[in-house]
Amino acid sequence: MKIDMIPLLFERNPAAEIDTNITLSETFPGVKLGELTLLGKVKNSAGHIMLTLQVKGSYTAQCDRCLVETEHELDFLLEKPVAVAGTIQDDTDEEYLYIVENELDIMPTLIEAVTFEIPTKILCSDECLGLCTGCGVDLNQSKCSCGEKKIDAQWEKIKKMLDE
Ligand SMILES: [Zn+2]
Ligand SMILES: [Zn+2]
Repeated sequence: MKIDMIPLLFERNPAAEIDTNITLSETFPGVKLGELTLLGKVKNSAGHIMLTLQVKGSYTAQCDRCLVETEHELDFLLEKPVAVAGTIQDDTDEEYLYIVENELDIMPTLIEAVTFEIPTKILCSDECLGLCTGCGVDLNQSKCSCGEKKIDAQWEKIKKMLDE
């Protein structure tokens, strides 16, 4: 998504508003990302240009523990300093977004931010009990008896040993 920077750079407009919905063509492994709502602006205050963008949406992904697919919210603020390409030295600590040919492409930084916001380990809830490694039962839904059986078997062994 490219934003026209001519009004901001040459027509003394203090800000370029962003108010749009987009669907990213980028895919994220194991994650189904829904439409994103972008609301914000690129603001020019005495030559200091700043992108401020509120990103909202949701994604569905399988829980790492119980494999149930659940929906998660995405809601974060993206703030980046902006500069016209070639006017800033690259050795500054700040990570600038560059205006190229009077346009600002916010896609790379947006994709980077979304990637950062989606955790590598996704859980349906922090308390998820996961699946039993013995019988595969979803321990959030039902109790399994693997554990009890193991104890029983050990108890049987001990009893036998005592009997002998
Ligand atoms: Zn889970
Ligand atoms: Zn089990």
